[in-house]
Amino acid sequence: MRLFVLGGGQLALMMCWESQRIPVDFSVYDPDSSAPAYRCARRPADPLEEVERADAVTFEFENVDISLAERAERLGKLRPPLAYLRLKKSRLEERAFFDSIGVPTVPWRRAAGWEEALKIAESMRRAVVKVPTGGYDGKGQYVYPREAGAISRLEGELLVEEYVDIKREFSIVAVRAENGNVYFYPPAQNYYVHGILVWNIAPVKAPEEAYEYVHRILDRWKYVGVLAVEFFETSDGRILANEIAPRVHNTAHWTLETDASQFENHVKAVLGLPVREPKAIAPTAMVNILGVPIEKLPVAELERIGKIYWYYKKEARPRRKMGHVNITGGSLAEVASKARLALQLIY
Ligand code: ADP
Ligand code: MG
Repeated sequence: MRLFVLGGGQLALMMCWESQRIPVDFSVYDPDSSAPAYRCARRPADPLEEVERADAVTFEFENVDISLAERAERLGKLRPPLAYLRLKKSRLEERAFFDSIGVPTVPWRRAAGWEEALKIAESMRRAVVKVPTGGYDGKGQYVYPREAGAISRLEGELLVEEYVDIKREFSIVAVRAENGNVYFYPPAQNYYVHGILVWNIAPVKAPEEAYEYVHRILDRWKYVGVLAVEFFETSDGRILANEIAPRVHNTAHWTLETDASQFENHVKAVLGLPVREPKAIAPTAMVNILGVPIEKLPVAELERIGKIYWYYKKEARPRRKMGHVNITGGSLAEVASKARLALQLIY
């Protein structure tokens, strides 16, 4: 079996780690020859030829070379289907998709340009203006009225949405096998700072309707593989879908501590193998290591608290995801307090 992954970041690296016991020839393609996944995976000479030879092609981030993904789709090898990747080309398309399948989101509107965006934002009182393409980890987002100046310098179509009062953020990560079987990992509660995930904790509870929304998303174009859906629970009790990630996701790195991680299940699902429900799920916290180079990392202290996963990135730019720490324990309270300790040690 040959699996070809588009993108060679930490998500591809962890997919490769977690498929060491599966008899699969694993290759990745990333324009950056020092990409993390090359520590583990084979680098094909010609990516287009690799698409021809592979049994299955998947991707680990949304801004992959779309022509490779399209080629794989035409050959019937791309999993999940291209339709999900296309959604991620524009936040506006993604919102319209949620609307079309009746999944509630933050009230939103499309603006033709910054002037209209400011007008809509004013009518909402407090708003977030998001650039439709290319944003991640809080990039390309501006809060109105505080950042009205920056909004007036934006170009092109914009997504304007109400700034909602969030009580908590959680995500549901699911895996759907080719035969339609769906397994939901228990939800994780996620803590963001300036739009970037800093740490999270699982398993937590989520209302039944959230699972129903995930099902609708999976069913729309017969998803295969791991899918993440980020939710807001607002102070007035609404459950709103924020965005999907048609791939393995940072909020489910904690599943590495179970006996069937999201990475292993994704690889199995896209290869048409049966997926597995984890049997052993302990309270787990995950702490992201952002922008810290290996020389500055208190490795020994962190190893006493949890398990370090390091992504082997050459350069530690601010906010860049360098690694993470997984912490397991007897209760959510215990792992949360250890996570706070880890955060103090790292930052
Ligand atoms: P990204 O693609 O950067 O993850 P998101 O839309 O998920 O973009 O936004 C990142 C974070 O910013 C969210 O997890 C949330 O904490 C905050 N945020 C985004 N949109 C809103 C909103 N409408 N109201 C309040 N907070 C928001
Ligand atoms: Mg997000």
